[in-house]
Amino acid sequence: MPASDKIPALVRDKVSDRARKVLDVVEKFVNEDCIPADPVYFAQLGQGSDRWIYPPIMEDLKTKAKSLGLWNMFLAKGHYKEGAGFTNLEYGLMCEQFGRSRVASEATNNSAPDTGNMEVLAKYGSEAQKKQWLTPLLNGEIRSCYVMTEPDVASSDATNVQLSIKRDGDSYILNGQKWWISGAGDPRCKLYVVLGKTDPNNPDKYKQQSIILVPANSPGITIKRMLSVYGYDDAPHGHAHLIFKDVRIPAANLVLGEGRGFEVMQGRMGPGRIHHAMRSIGAAEEALSWLLTRANAEHKKPFGKLLSKQGVILQWIAKSRIEIDAARLIVLNAAAAIDAANAKAALVEIAQAKILIPNMALTVIDRAVQIYGAQGVCQDTPLALMWAKVRTVRIADGPDEVHLEQLGRRENKKAAQARDLIQKQMDITDAMFRKYGTKEVGPCARL
Ligand SMILES: Cc1cc2nc3c(=O)[nH]c(=O)nc-3n(C[C@H](O)[C@H](O)[C@H](O)COP(=O)(O)OP(=O)(O)OC[C@H]3O[C@@H](n4cnc5c(N)ncnc54)[C@H](O)[C@@H]3O)c2cc1C
Repeated sequence: MPASDKIPALVRDKVSDRARKVLDVVEKFVNEDCIPADPVYFAQLGQGSDRWIYPPIMEDLKTKAKSLGLWNMFLAKGHYKEGAGFTNLEYGLMCEQFGRSRVASEATNNSAPDTGNMEVLAKYGSEAQKKQWLTPLLNGEIRSCYVMTEPDVASSDATNVQLSIKRDGDSYILNGQKWWISGAGDPRCKLYVVLGKTDPNNPDKYKQQSIILVPANSPGITIKRMLSVYGYDDAPHGHAHLIFKDVRIPAANLVLGEGRGFEVMQGRMGPGRIHHAMRSIGAAEEALSWLLTRANAEHKKPFGKLLSKQGVILQWIAKSRIEIDAARLIVLNAAAAIDAANAKAALVEIAQAKILIPNMALTVIDRAVQIYGAQGVCQDTPLALMWAKVRTVRIADGPDEVHLEQLGRRENKKAAQARDLIQKQMDITDAMFRKYGTKEVGPCARL
Protein backbone atom coordinates (compact mmCIF):
# COMPACT_ATOMS: atom_id res chain seq x y z
CA MET A 1 0.00 0.00 0.00
CA PRO A 2 1.57 3.38 -0.98
CA ALA A 3 2.11 6.07 1.68
CA SER A 4 -0.72 8.20 0.25
CA ASP A 5 -3.20 5.40 1.03
CA LYS A 6 -1.98 5.27 4.64
CA ILE A 7 -2.68 8.93 5.46
CA PRO A 8 -4.82 8.89 8.62
CA ALA A 9 -8.53 9.32 7.81
CA LEU A 10 -8.74 12.28 10.19
CA VAL A 11 -6.44 14.44 8.05
CA ARG A 12 -6.91 12.93 4.58
CA ASP A 13 -8.96 15.85 3.28
CA LYS A 14 -6.21 18.28 4.32
CA VAL A 15 -3.71 16.72 1.90
CA SER A 16 -3.77 18.00 -1.68
CA ASP A 17 -3.57 15.68 -4.71
CA ARG A 18 -0.18 17.14 -5.53
CA ALA A 19 1.12 16.42 -2.01
CA ARG A 20 -0.20 12.82 -2.18
CA LYS A 21 1.65 12.23 -5.43
CA VAL A 22 4.87 13.73 -4.05
CA LEU A 23 4.49 11.70 -0.84
CA ASP A 24 4.53 8.50 -2.90
CA VAL A 25 7.60 9.70 -4.81
CA VAL A 26 9.28 10.45 -1.46
CA GLU A 27 8.43 6.98 -0.16
CA LYS A 28 9.84 5.32 -3.31
CA PHE A 29 13.01 7.47 -3.15
CA VAL A 30 13.51 6.57 0.52
CA ASN A 31 12.83 2.85 -0.05
CA GLU A 32 14.80 2.38 -3.25
CA ASP A 33 17.58 4.96 -3.04
CA CYS A 34 18.12 6.23 0.51
CA ILE A 35 17.78 3.16 2.75
CA PRO A 36 19.98 1.09 0.41
CA ALA A 37 22.47 4.01 0.35
CA ASP A 38 22.79 4.23 4.15
CA PRO A 39 25.43 1.47 4.51
CA VAL A 40 27.34 2.84 1.48
CA TYR A 41 27.39 6.29 3.08
CA PHE A 42 28.81 4.81 6.31
CA ALA A 43 31.35 2.76 4.32
CA GLN A 44 32.54 5.86 2.44
CA LEU A 45 33.15 7.56 5.79
CA GLY A 46 35.43 4.66 6.74
CA GLN A 47 36.62 3.67 10.19
CA GLY A 48 39.71 5.82 10.74
CA SER A 49 40.21 9.18 12.41
CA ASP A 50 39.58 11.14 9.19
CA ARG A 51 35.83 10.66 8.96
CA TRP A 52 35.15 14.41 8.61
CA ILE A 53 34.73 14.19 4.85
CA TYR A 54 31.88 14.49 2.36
CA PRO A 55 30.78 10.99 1.26
CA PRO A 56 30.47 11.15 -2.57
CA ILE A 57 27.20 9.18 -2.60
CA MET A 58 25.44 12.18 -1.02
CA GLU A 59 25.96 14.39 -4.08
CA ASP A 60 24.50 11.66 -6.34
CA LEU A 61 21.48 11.32 -4.07
CA LYS A 62 20.99 15.10 -4.11
CA THR A 63 21.10 15.15 -7.91
CA LYS A 64 18.48 12.40 -8.05
CA ALA A 65 16.28 14.09 -5.43
CA LYS A 66 16.37 17.37 -7.40
CA SER A 67 15.49 15.55 -10.63
CA LEU A 68 12.45 14.07 -8.85
CA GLY A 69 11.42 17.52 -7.59
CA LEU A 70 12.13 16.55 -3.97
CA TRP A 71 13.84 19.67 -2.64
CA ASN A 72 13.27 22.16 0.23
CA MET A 73 9.82 20.87 1.13
CA PHE A 74 10.15 22.11 4.73
CA LEU A 75 9.47 25.80 3.97
CA ALA A 76 5.73 25.86 4.52
CA LYS A 77 3.16 27.23 2.11
CA GLY A 78 1.65 30.51 3.27
CA HIS A 79 4.63 31.20 5.54
CA TYR A 80 7.58 31.27 3.10
CA LYS A 81 7.76 32.06 -0.59
CA GLU A 82 11.02 30.11 -1.09
CA GLY A 83 9.73 26.56 -0.46
CA ALA A 84 8.07 23.82 -2.52
CA GLY A 85 4.55 24.93 -1.55
CA PHE A 86 3.44 22.23 0.93
CA THR A 87 1.66 22.77 4.24
CA ASN A 88 3.31 21.74 7.51
CA LEU A 89 0.94 18.78 7.63
CA GLU A 90 1.82 17.64 4.11
CA TYR A 91 5.53 18.05 4.77
CA GLY A 92 5.10 16.21 8.11
CA LEU A 93 3.93 13.12 6.23
CA MET A 94 6.98 13.33 3.95
CA CYS A 95 9.26 13.89 6.93
CA GLU A 96 8.08 10.59 8.43
CA GLN A 97 9.51 8.86 5.35
CA PHE A 98 12.82 10.76 5.70
CA GLY A 99 13.10 9.56 9.31
CA ARG A 100 13.50 5.98 8.09
CA SER A 101 16.93 6.67 6.57
CA ARG A 102 20.19 8.37 7.64
CA VAL A 103 20.68 10.15 4.32
CA ALA A 104 17.16 11.06 3.15
CA SER A 105 16.71 14.44 4.86
CA GLU A 106 20.04 15.78 3.66
CA ALA A 107 19.62 14.32 0.17
CA THR A 108 16.45 16.42 -0.24
CA ASN A 109 17.86 19.51 1.54
CA ASN A 110 15.46 19.10 4.43
CA SER A 111 17.89 18.44 7.26
CA ALA A 112 18.48 20.14 10.60
CA PRO A 113 19.96 22.46 11.63
CA ASP A 114 19.97 23.98 8.12
CA THR A 115 16.18 23.96 7.95
CA GLY A 116 15.78 26.11 11.09
CA ASN A 117 18.60 28.40 9.99
CA MET A 118 17.04 28.87 6.54
CA GLU A 119 13.74 29.71 8.24
CA VAL A 120 15.56 32.36 10.31
CA LEU A 121 17.21 33.86 7.24
CA ALA A 122 14.03 33.78 5.15
CA LYS A 123 11.99 35.35 7.96
CA TYR A 124 14.39 37.82 9.54
CA GLY A 125 17.45 38.15 7.28
CA SER A 126 18.38 41.35 5.42
CA GLU A 127 18.62 41.18 1.63
CA ALA A 128 22.44 41.04 1.86
CA GLN A 129 22.30 38.25 4.48
CA LYS A 130 19.87 36.29 2.32
CA LYS A 131 22.08 36.64 -0.73
CA GLN A 132 25.22 35.57 1.13
CA TRP A 133 23.77 32.67 3.15
CA LEU A 134 20.19 31.76 2.30
CA THR A 135 20.72 31.24 -1.43
CA PRO A 136 23.62 28.74 -1.09
CA LEU A 137 21.79 26.96 1.75
CA LEU A 138 18.62 26.63 -0.35
CA ASN A 139 20.77 25.30 -3.20
CA GLY A 140 22.37 22.73 -0.88
CA GLU A 141 25.85 24.13 -1.63
CA ILE A 142 26.82 24.82 1.98
CA ARG A 143 25.72 23.70 5.47
CA SER A 144 25.30 25.57 8.77
CA CYS A 145 25.11 25.24 12.57
CA TYR A 146 22.90 26.67 15.27
CA VAL A 147 25.13 27.83 18.12
CA MET A 148 23.36 28.31 21.45
CA THR A 149 24.29 25.75 24.15
CA GLU A 150 27.19 26.43 26.54
CA PRO A 151 29.12 24.05 28.81
CA ASP A 152 29.22 26.32 31.88
CA VAL A 153 25.51 27.14 32.23
CA ALA A 154 22.17 25.27 32.24
CA SER A 155 21.29 26.03 28.63
CA SER A 156 17.74 24.65 28.67
CA ASP A 157 17.07 28.14 30.05
CA ALA A 158 18.52 30.18 27.18
CA THR A 159 18.55 33.38 29.26
CA ASN A 160 21.66 31.82 30.89
CA VAL A 161 23.88 31.94 27.81
CA GLN A 162 27.05 33.94 28.44
CA LEU A 163 28.91 34.29 25.12
CA SER A 164 29.73 37.97 24.86
CA ILE A 165 28.95 39.99 21.69
CA LYS A 166 30.49 43.47 22.16
CA ARG A 167 30.22 46.33 19.70
CA ASP A 168 33.55 47.77 18.48
CA GLY A 169 33.19 50.33 15.64
CA ASP A 170 31.69 48.58 12.62
CA SER A 171 32.19 45.16 14.17
CA TYR A 172 31.17 42.94 17.03
CA ILE A 173 33.75 41.00 19.05
CA LEU A 174 32.71 37.54 20.26
CA ASN A 175 34.21 35.78 23.30
CA GLY A 176 33.03 32.59 25.00
CA GLN A 177 32.48 28.90 24.40
CA LYS A 178 29.69 26.71 23.06
CA TRP A 179 29.14 22.98 22.89
CA TRP A 180 26.87 20.43 21.23
CA ILE A 181 27.11 22.43 18.03
CA SER A 182 25.72 19.93 15.54
CA GLY A 183 27.08 20.01 12.02
CA ALA A 184 30.34 21.78 12.87
CA GLY A 185 32.33 18.72 11.77
CA ASP A 186 31.06 18.89 8.20
CA PRO A 187 33.65 20.32 5.77
CA ARG A 188 30.79 22.07 3.94
CA CYS A 189 29.65 23.94 7.07
CA LYS A 190 30.24 27.63 6.33
CA LEU A 191 27.84 29.44 8.67
CA TYR A 192 27.33 29.59 12.43
CA VAL A 193 24.07 31.19 13.62
CA VAL A 194 25.24 32.32 17.08
CA LEU A 195 23.20 33.37 20.14
CA GLY A 196 25.05 35.53 22.66
CA LYS A 197 24.65 38.58 24.87
CA THR A 198 24.96 42.14 23.56
CA ASP A 199 23.41 43.70 26.68
CA PRO A 200 24.02 41.45 29.72
CA ASN A 201 22.84 44.13 32.18
CA ASN A 202 19.47 44.85 30.57
CA PRO A 203 16.83 44.52 33.35
CA ASP A 204 14.62 42.62 30.88
CA LYS A 205 16.38 39.25 30.70
CA TYR A 206 14.74 38.50 27.34
CA LYS A 207 16.31 41.60 25.75
CA GLN A 208 19.93 40.81 26.63
CA GLN A 209 20.53 38.43 23.70
CA SER A 210 21.20 38.85 20.00
CA ILE A 211 21.79 36.51 17.08
CA ILE A 212 24.71 37.07 14.74
CA LEU A 213 25.79 35.31 11.53
CA VAL A 214 29.38 34.11 11.84
CA PRO A 215 31.43 32.67 8.96
CA ALA A 216 32.63 29.26 10.20
CA ASN A 217 36.24 29.98 9.21
CA SER A 218 36.48 33.27 11.16
CA PRO A 219 39.85 33.80 12.87
CA GLY A 220 39.58 33.16 16.63
CA ILE A 221 37.20 30.16 16.39
CA THR A 222 38.69 26.80 17.31
CA ILE A 223 37.13 23.37 17.66
CA LYS A 224 38.28 22.19 21.09
CA ARG A 225 36.92 18.67 20.60
CA MET A 226 34.11 16.68 19.02
CA LEU A 227 31.54 15.07 21.35
CA SER A 228 30.14 11.58 20.94
CA VAL A 229 26.54 10.40 21.34
CA TYR A 230 26.53 7.03 23.16
CA GLY A 231 29.93 6.45 21.54
CA TYR A 232 28.85 7.46 17.99
CA ASP A 233 30.79 10.37 16.49
CA ASP A 234 27.91 11.22 14.08
CA ALA A 235 30.54 12.03 11.43
CA PRO A 236 30.70 13.93 9.19
CA HIS A 237 28.03 16.08 10.87
CA GLY A 238 29.33 15.82 14.46
CA HIS A 239 28.76 17.83 17.62
CA ALA A 240 31.51 20.33 18.45
CA HIS A 241 32.81 22.08 21.51
CA LEU A 242 33.81 25.51 20.13
CA ILE A 243 35.97 28.29 21.57
CA PHE A 244 35.42 31.90 20.46
CA LYS A 245 38.42 34.14 21.22
CA ASP A 246 38.20 37.78 20.06
CA VAL A 247 36.26 36.81 16.94
CA ARG A 248 35.62 39.97 14.90
CA ILE A 249 32.40 39.97 12.84
CA PRO A 250 30.92 42.83 10.74
CA ALA A 251 28.07 44.61 12.55
CA ALA A 252 25.87 44.06 9.47
CA ASN A 253 25.81 40.34 10.35
CA LEU A 254 23.51 40.92 13.33
CA VAL A 255 20.02 39.48 12.66
CA LEU A 256 17.07 41.86 13.14
CA GLY A 257 18.86 44.09 15.69
CA GLU A 258 20.40 44.12 19.16
CA GLY A 259 18.32 42.53 21.93
CA ARG A 260 16.10 40.59 19.52
CA GLY A 261 17.82 37.21 19.87
CA PHE A 262 14.94 35.60 21.77
CA GLU A 263 12.43 36.75 19.22
CA VAL A 264 14.49 35.20 16.41
CA MET A 265 15.12 32.02 18.42
CA GLN A 266 11.45 31.51 19.14
CA GLY A 267 10.53 32.06 15.49
CA ARG A 268 12.94 29.22 14.69
CA MET A 269 11.63 26.59 17.08
CA GLY A 270 8.05 25.50 16.31
CA PRO A 271 8.06 23.73 12.94
CA GLY A 272 11.50 22.19 13.65
CA ARG A 273 10.03 20.29 16.58
CA ILE A 274 7.34 18.86 14.32
CA HIS A 275 10.02 17.77 11.82
CA HIS A 276 12.00 15.95 14.54
CA ALA A 277 8.80 14.34 15.81
CA MET A 278 7.74 13.09 12.38
CA ARG A 279 11.23 11.76 11.67
CA SER A 280 11.00 9.89 15.00
CA ILE A 281 7.66 8.40 13.86
CA GLY A 282 9.48 7.21 10.73
CA ALA A 283 12.22 5.68 12.88
CA ALA A 284 9.56 3.86 14.95
CA GLU A 285 7.93 2.51 11.76
CA GLU A 286 11.30 1.31 10.52
CA ALA A 287 11.99 -0.36 13.89
CA LEU A 288 8.61 -2.12 13.70
CA SER A 289 9.52 -3.44 10.22
CA TRP A 290 12.73 -4.89 11.69
CA LEU A 291 10.77 -6.33 14.62
CA LEU A 292 8.29 -8.05 12.26
CA THR A 293 11.15 -9.43 10.18
CA ARG A 294 12.85 -11.05 13.19
CA ALA A 295 9.54 -12.25 14.66
CA ASN A 296 8.94 -14.27 11.47
CA ALA A 297 12.52 -15.40 10.73
CA GLU A 298 12.39 -19.15 9.98
CA HIS A 299 16.09 -19.60 10.77
CA LYS A 300 15.74 -18.23 14.31
CA LYS A 301 13.15 -20.18 16.32
CA PRO A 302 13.95 -20.25 20.01
CA PHE A 303 12.29 -23.25 21.72
CA GLY A 304 11.12 -24.55 18.33
CA LYS A 305 8.61 -21.76 17.58
CA LEU A 306 8.60 -18.62 15.47
CA LEU A 307 8.78 -15.64 17.82
CA SER A 308 5.54 -14.33 16.24
CA LYS A 309 3.82 -17.43 17.71
CA GLN A 310 4.61 -16.17 21.22
CA GLY A 311 1.75 -14.18 22.73
CA VAL A 312 4.06 -11.62 24.30
CA ILE A 313 5.63 -10.80 20.93
CA LEU A 314 2.21 -10.40 19.29
CA GLN A 315 1.37 -7.98 22.08
CA TRP A 316 4.54 -5.98 21.33
CA ILE A 317 3.54 -5.86 17.67
CA ALA A 318 -0.02 -4.76 18.44
CA LYS A 319 1.04 -2.19 21.04
CA SER A 320 3.67 -0.76 18.69
CA ARG A 321 1.08 -0.30 15.93
CA ILE A 322 -1.37 1.40 18.31
CA GLU A 323 1.29 3.65 19.84
CA ILE A 324 2.75 4.76 16.50
CA ASP A 325 -0.67 5.49 14.98
CA ALA A 326 -1.83 7.43 18.05
CA ALA A 327 1.41 9.44 18.21
CA ARG A 328 1.21 10.29 14.52
CA LEU A 329 -2.17 11.91 15.09
CA ILE A 330 -0.69 14.11 17.82
CA VAL A 331 2.04 15.39 15.48
CA LEU A 332 -0.28 15.90 12.54
CA ASN A 333 -2.68 17.77 14.82
CA ALA A 334 0.19 20.09 15.80
CA ALA A 335 1.16 20.56 12.15
CA ALA A 336 -2.48 21.36 11.28
CA ALA A 337 -2.61 23.87 14.16
CA ILE A 338 0.49 25.65 12.76
CA ASP A 339 -1.10 25.65 9.30
CA ALA A 340 -4.32 27.12 10.69
CA ALA A 341 -2.46 30.09 12.28
CA ASN A 342 1.24 29.96 13.19
CA ALA A 343 3.68 28.22 15.55
CA LYS A 344 2.93 30.63 18.40
CA ALA A 345 -0.77 29.76 18.33
CA ALA A 346 0.11 26.04 18.30
CA LEU A 347 2.43 26.05 21.35
CA VAL A 348 0.45 23.44 23.29
CA GLU A 349 0.08 21.04 20.37
CA ILE A 350 3.77 21.38 19.46
CA ALA A 351 4.84 20.70 23.07
CA GLN A 352 2.59 17.62 23.24
CA ALA A 353 4.26 16.21 20.12
CA LYS A 354 7.77 17.19 21.27
CA ILE A 355 7.29 15.20 24.50
CA LEU A 356 5.23 12.23 23.41
CA ILE A 357 6.84 11.11 20.17
CA PRO A 358 10.48 10.40 21.12
CA ASN A 359 9.30 8.53 24.23
CA MET A 360 6.93 6.43 22.12
CA ALA A 361 9.60 5.80 19.45
CA LEU A 362 12.14 4.74 22.09
CA THR A 363 9.67 2.17 23.44
CA VAL A 364 9.09 0.70 19.97
CA ILE A 365 12.80 0.72 19.05
CA ASP A 366 13.64 -0.94 22.36
CA ARG A 367 11.18 -3.77 21.64
CA ALA A 368 12.87 -4.26 18.27
CA VAL A 369 16.32 -4.28 19.91
CA GLN A 370 15.09 -6.86 22.42
CA ILE A 371 13.68 -9.25 19.83
CA TYR A 372 17.06 -9.37 18.03
CA GLY A 373 18.82 -10.45 21.22
CA ALA A 374 22.50 -9.54 21.23
CA GLN A 375 22.36 -8.70 17.53
CA GLY A 376 20.03 -5.82 18.38
CA VAL A 377 22.70 -3.85 20.22
CA CYS A 378 25.44 -4.17 17.56
CA GLN A 379 26.00 -2.72 14.08
CA ASP A 380 24.14 -5.51 12.25
CA THR A 381 20.80 -3.70 12.40
CA PRO A 382 20.08 0.08 12.25
CA LEU A 383 18.41 -0.18 15.67
CA ALA A 384 21.28 0.71 18.01
CA LEU A 385 22.13 3.93 16.12
CA MET A 386 18.43 4.71 15.76
CA TRP A 387 17.92 4.39 19.53
CA ALA A 388 20.89 6.67 20.29
CA LYS A 389 19.63 9.32 17.88
CA VAL A 390 16.04 9.33 19.10
CA ARG A 391 17.18 9.34 22.75
CA THR A 392 18.83 12.71 22.19
CA VAL A 393 15.54 14.23 20.99
CA ARG A 394 14.32 14.04 24.61
CA ILE A 395 17.10 16.53 25.50
CA ALA A 396 17.89 18.59 22.39
CA ASP A 397 15.64 21.57 21.61
CA GLY A 398 14.62 21.69 25.28
CA PRO A 399 14.46 18.69 27.65
CA ASP A 400 11.15 16.89 28.29
CA GLU A 401 10.90 18.35 31.81
CA VAL A 402 10.93 21.96 30.58
CA HIS A 403 8.11 21.33 28.12
CA LEU A 404 6.20 19.26 30.66
CA GLU A 405 6.44 22.04 33.21
CA GLN A 406 5.09 24.60 30.74
CA LEU A 407 2.28 22.28 29.67
CA GLY A 408 1.53 21.40 33.30
CA ARG A 409 1.31 25.08 34.29
CA ARG A 410 -1.08 25.81 31.43
CA GLU A 411 -3.28 22.82 32.22
CA ASN A 412 -3.26 23.70 35.92
CA LYS A 413 -4.80 27.09 35.09
CA LYS A 414 -7.97 25.20 34.22
CA ALA A 415 -8.38 24.15 37.89
CA ALA A 416 -10.92 26.85 38.81
CA GLN A 417 -12.98 26.12 35.69
CA ALA A 418 -12.92 22.36 36.46
CA ARG A 419 -13.92 22.96 40.09
CA ASP A 420 -16.73 25.37 39.11
CA LEU A 421 -18.22 22.84 36.69
CA ILE A 422 -18.10 20.05 39.31
CA GLN A 423 -19.67 22.40 41.91
CA LYS A 424 -22.40 23.45 39.47
CA GLN A 425 -23.24 19.79 38.72
CA MET A 426 -23.43 19.05 42.48
CA ASP A 427 -25.77 22.04 42.96
CA ILE A 428 -28.03 20.68 40.20
CA THR A 429 -27.96 17.23 41.87
CA ASP A 430 -29.00 18.83 45.19
CA ALA A 431 -31.85 20.66 43.43
CA MET A 432 -32.96 17.30 41.97
CA PHE A 433 -32.82 15.69 45.44
CA ARG A 434 -35.09 18.45 46.71
CA LYS A 435 -37.48 18.13 43.76
CA TYR A 436 -37.83 14.35 44.13
CA GLY A 437 -37.75 14.43 47.95
CA THR A 438 -34.86 11.94 48.11
CA LYS A 439 -31.57 11.96 50.01
CA GLU A 440 -28.20 10.76 48.79
CA VAL A 441 -27.66 7.01 49.11
CA GLY A 442 -24.70 5.41 47.30
CA PRO A 443 -22.34 7.23 44.93
CA CYS A 444 -22.70 11.03 45.14
CA ALA A 445 -19.83 13.44 44.33
CA ARG A 446 -18.90 15.91 47.12
CA LEU A 447 -15.99 18.35 47.19
C1 LIG B 1 22.61 15.27 19.99
C2 LIG B 1 22.45 16.67 20.44
C3 LIG B 1 22.52 17.71 19.52
C4 LIG B 1 22.43 19.04 19.93
N1 LIG B 1 22.56 20.02 18.99
C5 LIG B 1 22.61 21.31 19.39
C6 LIG B 1 22.91 22.36 18.46
O1 LIG B 1 23.07 22.11 17.26
N2 LIG B 1 23.03 23.63 18.91
C7 LIG B 1 22.87 23.94 20.22
O2 LIG B 1 22.98 25.09 20.57
N3 LIG B 1 22.58 22.97 21.14
C8 LIG B 1 22.47 21.67 20.75
N4 LIG B 1 22.23 20.68 21.67
C9 LIG B 1 22.10 21.04 23.08
C10 LIG B 1 20.69 20.97 23.61
O3 LIG B 1 19.85 21.94 23.01
C11 LIG B 1 20.80 21.16 25.13
O4 LIG B 1 21.48 20.03 25.63
C12 LIG B 1 19.44 21.31 25.79
O5 LIG B 1 18.85 22.55 25.50
C13 LIG B 1 19.58 21.18 27.32
O6 LIG B 1 20.54 22.07 27.85
P1 LIG B 1 21.70 21.52 28.81
O7 LIG B 1 22.35 20.34 28.17
O8 LIG B 1 22.56 22.67 29.18
O9 LIG B 1 20.94 20.93 30.06
P2 LIG B 1 20.55 21.69 31.41
O10 LIG B 1 19.89 22.99 31.09
O11 LIG B 1 21.75 21.72 32.27
O12 LIG B 1 19.46 20.71 31.99
C14 LIG B 1 19.84 19.42 32.51
C15 LIG B 1 18.60 18.66 32.92
O13 LIG B 1 17.94 19.37 33.94
C16 LIG B 1 16.57 19.03 33.93
N5 LIG B 1 15.76 20.25 33.90
C17 LIG B 1 15.98 21.40 33.25
N6 LIG B 1 14.99 22.27 33.46
C18 LIG B 1 14.10 21.66 34.26
C19 LIG B 1 12.84 22.01 34.82
N7 LIG B 1 12.29 23.22 34.56
N8 LIG B 1 12.22 21.10 35.61
C20 LIG B 1 12.75 19.90 35.86
N9 LIG B 1 13.92 19.51 35.35
C21 LIG B 1 14.58 20.36 34.56
C22 LIG B 1 16.31 18.20 32.67
O14 LIG B 1 16.26 16.83 33.01
C23 LIG B 1 17.56 18.50 31.85
O15 LIG B 1 17.85 17.43 30.93
C24 LIG B 1 22.25 19.34 21.30
C25 LIG B 1 22.15 18.30 22.22
C26 LIG B 1 22.25 16.98 21.81
C27 LIG B 1 22.19 15.89 22.84
